[in-house]
Parts: sequence; structure tokens; C-alpha cells
Amino acid sequence: MPDHYAVIGNPIAHSKSPLIHAAFARATGQDLDYGRILGDPDDFPGEVRRFLASGGRGLNVTVPFKEAAWALADERSQRAEIAGAVNTLIRLDDDRLRGDNTDGVGLVRDLADNHGFRFPGAQVLLLGAGGAARGVLVPLLESGLARLIIANRTPGKAQQLADLGAPFGPAQARGFDQLEGERFDLIINATSAGLSDAVPAIPEDCLASGGWTYDMLYADTPTAFRRWGQRHGAARSLDGLGMLIEQAAESFWLWRGVRPDTAAVIAMLRHPE
Ligand code: NDP
Repeated sequence: MPDHYAVIGNPIAHSKSPLIHAAFARATGQDLDYGRILGDPDDFPGEVRRFLASGGRGLNVTVPFKEAAWALADERSQRAEIAGAVNTLIRLDDDRLRGDNTDGVGLVRDLADNHGFRFPGAQVLLLGAGGAARGVLVPLLESGLARLIIANRTPGKAQQLADLGAPFGPAQARGFDQLEGERFDLIINATSAGLSDAVPAIPEDCLASGGWTYDMLYADTPTAFRRWGQRHGAARSLDGLGMLIEQAAESFWLWRGVRPDTAAVIAMLRHPE
């Protein structure tokens, strides 16, 4: 019997995780199956209990259950602890559940390993202070960057994130209208503005010459923020597909102790036949 894994969310039909993990399993010769679960928003613990009772070994967790997974975990990694959200549940040998959050490491690896962005010394602007921004905070601050400014439409929430991140690296908070005169080597969009094809109201000239933009949102056509980067002369203007696949690879590693090669899977999803 193959080991059993799944992604749980609501909605879930759109999730690319089953495709990604099936490709990882094929490429690494791991005997596992990976399904999708449409979770009941009123009974996340029950859903997880039933999955474990059926022999499940681990879960990826997506919207809206990441905070519920954090609460359910018997123990948590430090990055998940600070994120306040868990996207990976690992069943330990004694049947306790360990919670981790692989989103931030996925973002940093996509930028640094897949695209060659040099974090050491970089001035980085993180747009947004919701769950996505909080989820990537610790790995970003530990990347070697020189300064992280977190800017949000509601500045108080950016300040909360900066306070949370302060023990891990140089984080400061701003409102979008407090960025005049600043220049950034990398601007990461972790807002949900792109879901309505909008872009956060940041100054037109805040991208440094040779600077990069990264939209955590991924869509089949270029997102509004990716287009913003292209219009403002970004040396690279990336979307979140690589992050999605790298966070999955880190989950796979946590479950199986094997690190899959991600390049072929990124190419497969970028250019489906
Ligand atoms: P939340 O609802 O938790 O937070 C939304 C954030 O966006 C807040 O900071 C909010 O500001 C800001 N925002 C919303 N609309 C606007 C706007 N019109 N202008 C400026 N700011 C705006 O959402 P999440 O953090 O969970 O998700 C954000 C995005 O990240 C989503 O698009 C999601 O798809 C993406 N994501 C991608 C991942 C990947 O693997 N590639 C992983 C996780 C998320 P305020 O506080 O003022 O309301």
C-alpha cells in the first residue's frame, strides 16, 4: 500500500498540489498517493482525524484552514510558530502531529536558487501584512537581506509584523504613503490586491535601477503587479508559481526525507502540453 498524503482546503478543486506531488513522487521513485480533501469549515479537526484514521501520513493545508492547522498541531517549527499558520502537517512516529510552514522558504528558494537573486545586502520591500506576508517573514529576515520594510494599506498591521520579526532581522513598518525617497532591490507583493487586478499604491520610483519585483500571486496570464514591474523597468518581474512548487518540495522533504528536483515541475506547470 502506498503512503497516503493530501491537500485540504475550501475551495480545493483548483489546487495544483496533487499534480506537483505526483510529479515529485514519480521523479524520486517514492511510493505514495496524494489526494485532495474539500474540508468542512466547521470541522477541521474532525476532517484531520478521519484522514489519519484512514492511514494518512501528512497533509498540506490551504485557505481557510492554515490557522486551524496551527492550533491543532501538537508541536510546531519556529517558522510556523511565528507565521501563526501551518501549511504542512507531519504525522510523527508516535502519532502526534507536527506543524510547519514552508511558504517562506519556498519564496526565498525560488528567488535565490531558481533565479539567482542575491539577498545579502539587499533592500527589500514586502507589500501586505496579512497571512501571506506573515507566513514568509522569518525566512525572509534570515536570508541575509540588509533591510526589510513592510508596507501595508493599514500601517498598524505592518507594525505588528515588524515587531514580530524584529528578533530575526532588520524589519521596519510603513504605510504606502511613507515610501517617498526609498529605493528597493526587491519588491514582493503579498497583498491580495491582484485578485481584483489592482496594485498597491506605492510610489512610481521606488524600484532601484536593476531591481526585481515578485508577485506571490500566480495566474496563467501576467498579474497586475507583474505588469507593474515590467512597466517600471524591473530587471526581473516574477510571479508566485516557483514559490508554490518550492514550498511543496520542502513539504515533500519533511515527509519523505528526499528533496525533489523542482525545475522540471516548474517547466511542466509553466508550459503544460
Ligand atoms: P489576507 O486577506 O490575509 O491579507 C490581504 C492583504 O492584502 C492585507 O495586507 C491587505 O491590506 C492587503 N490588500 C488587500 N486589498 C488591497 C488593495 N486593494 N490595495 C492594497 N492592499 C490590499 O490575504 P493573504 O495574505 O492570505 O493572501 C495574499 C495573497 O498572497 C493572495 O493573493 C494569495 O494568492 C497569495 N499567496 C501566494 C502563495 C504562493 O505560494 N505563491 C502562498 C500564500 C498566499 P489591509 O491589511 O489594509 O486590509
